[in-house]
Amino acid sequence: MEIIVAKFGGSSLANANQFKKVKKIIEEDKRRRYIVPSAPGKEHADDTKITDLLYLLYDLASHKISYLDIWEMFVHRYEDICRELELNIDLKPYFDQIQKDLEKGVSKEYLSSRGEYLNGVILSEYLGFAFVDSASVMFFKDDSRLDGEKTYRALAKMAKEHEYAVIPGFYGSDPEGKIRTFTRGGGDLSGAIVARGVQASLYENWTDVSGFLAADPNIVDHPRHIDAITYQELRELSYMGAGILHDEAIFPVVSEGIPILIKNTNAPEDKGTKIVQQIRELEDEYEITGVAGRKNFSVINIEKVQMNRDLSFHRKIMSILEANDIFLEHMPSSIDSLSLIIADKYLQGKAEIVMNEIKTFVNPDSITLQSNISLIAVVGRSMINHIGASAKLFSALASHGINIQMIIQGSSEMNIIVGVDTKDFEEGIRSIYKGFSKV
Ligand code: ASP
Repeated sequence: MEIIVAKFGGSSLANANQFKKVKKIIEEDKRRRYIVPSAPGKEHADDTKITDLLYLLYDLASHKISYLDIWEMFVHRYEDICRELELNIDLKPYFDQIQKDLEKGVSKEYLSSRGEYLNGVILSEYLGFAFVDSASVMFFKDDSRLDGEKTYRALAKMAKEHEYAVIPGFYGSDPEGKIRTFTRGGGDLSGAIVARGVQASLYENWTDVSGFLAADPNIVDHPRHIDAITYQELRELSYMGAGILHDEAIFPVVSEGIPILIKNTNAPEDKGTKIVQQIRELEDEYEITGVAGRKNFSVINIEKVQMNRDLSFHRKIMSILEANDIFLEHMPSSIDSLSLIIADKYLQGKAEIVMNEIKTFVNPDSITLQSNISLIAVVGRSMINHIGASAKLFSALASHGINIQMIIQGSSEMNIIVGVDTKDFEEGIRSIYKGFSKV
């Protein structure tokens, strides 16, 4: 039978009512055989996620501060779920074990993983599926990276042993058997790894929105819903997916061509957004797939006549960035100039040092720092075949009096990124979106 792996995020499993919705969804399609839950998330806007409670518990316990109030909150969340679902599980031994470990002094990763672990135990009982501890199928190497070979082998074996199973997200174990976790939101990544390991035909990612929109609804009124997007477009639009899908979650499934379907647990009838390898040209209804951007960038502009005659020029600049732990976002250049576009968070307290080092090592004719830059990415697989997409983009900005500070186009030809002054960010997105809308 075909296999669907369904991952349910924290808001989808925040309380008993959400568990009921999840069960209904799973039972509607027998192909939903492997379920990857997150820890309970927020029930309402000012609630606290279980994972955050666990981080807090760790901080309090490791500083020998009384943590009992927080502990009670943690325990009650799960007890409430079990009571309201009328489940007959004795959670006490689980809590006793976690508390004993906490007293003994455990790792932060172990403690934070218990949120998904317990939710997995409860969900498997509620669904009548087997429970598979992720420590036994999700393996990390010593350097905290996934041991793909070992993991995929274990997951394939697990699929032979269990027709239906719940495998908690977010964690696995290292070569010493210690619990390790992915970065925050890593349940998405676990789901993708399970999908690949069991050779699923679809990876469903259930969350609290019905997929991606072509622009941020806080900026553009009622942006169009994106029904389908390619993996590559999503990467280019990574500014957009933030908060919906972990930005590494596509990697395990890309090479296998397993589509990801983003769905809304609270509105399961909504179509969702499908992330796929390729979309047939005929189905391309729109010239662009989406427009998204991010604020808080700075640019270091370096000018030096005939810099391309110096073989070591670029290497020296890259080494300076590397030595200062600075990640580069983009590097547009012209014959005698080069711009380093860097997120402000990396330059904080380091801008002067870096500029001085560049002065010392490459002796530029001039070097300046420009702040308050925002980047806007316009992405669309059909831009490759459309003549005039850039003209449309530039005239949309020009007609709103927005000055383009820089232009970056990737070799994929499916995206154009413009740098604008941050004061023009929202208006820039609105005017581009409108410029490409069919009205
Ligand atoms: N519970 C973890 C977090 O809050 C992982 C996840 O939800 O995917 O980051």
